[in-house]
Amino acid sequence: MVPPPRRNALMDAEVREKIHLEILKRTGAYHANDHILLPSGQHTTEYIEKTLVTTEPSFTEGLGAVIAKHFAQWPIDVVLSTGPGALILSHCVARAHPSRPTVMYGTKGVSGGKRRVSLPAEFHRLIRQNNKVLIVEDLISSGQTVRLLTELVEGLGAQVVGVGALWRRTKKADVDGKPIFSLVSRDFPTYPPDTCPLCKKGVPLNQEFVKRRESRKPSSALEKI
Ligand SMILES: [Zn+2]
Repeated sequence: MVPPPRRNALMDAEVREKIHLEILKRTGAYHANDHILLPSGQHTTEYIEKTLVTTEPSFTEGLGAVIAKHFAQWPIDVVLSTGPGALILSHCVARAHPSRPTVMYGTKGVSGGKRRVSLPAEFHRLIRQNNKVLIVEDLISSGQTVRLLTELVEGLGAQVVGVGALWRRTKKADVDGKPIFSLVSRDFPTYPPDTCPLCKKGVPLNQEFVKRRESRKPSSALEKI
């Protein structure tokens, strides 16, 4: 028998994604219909400012509750994240999940030229054998942070049951086959300057985000103190 069409479910997912994009737009984090210079030198029409994603508590709570609802059928002991934005979101997810999981975080750093995530020693005692862990991220780009967190969890004998995120860049993100749920799943179209259709049309290039990153650089040494 031919399975029934899933058009309604697909449409619902599209509508939900539009609502979530609209919410992110209202925080000022999501920019669309622009012509933006990326730090890589590529041009794009869309951009997300990660630090602004979780600045509106009522929006973050609402989005966290949607992620919690998706994973409500699984018992979860710990919600784990890393980075300030993801930690705010993970609090909201944990608060709304029926298992009343605890919230923990890893800290990011670089050692020996490699990106690493480590857990504060106190958390090593609290993540026990066979615990069920939900990883929460704000944005998933390469999936590297999720992989590092998964290694930490599995090294402690616990199990990652899934990954919840606000935004997943679909082309790049690879999270080793873990069930992943993101409110928005889309990649930005990026173009090299010489073949960029917006450049061809003469649309002015917005360099604001690259300038902002560069102006932050001198203070980055201070942030680590
Ligand atoms: Zn361009």
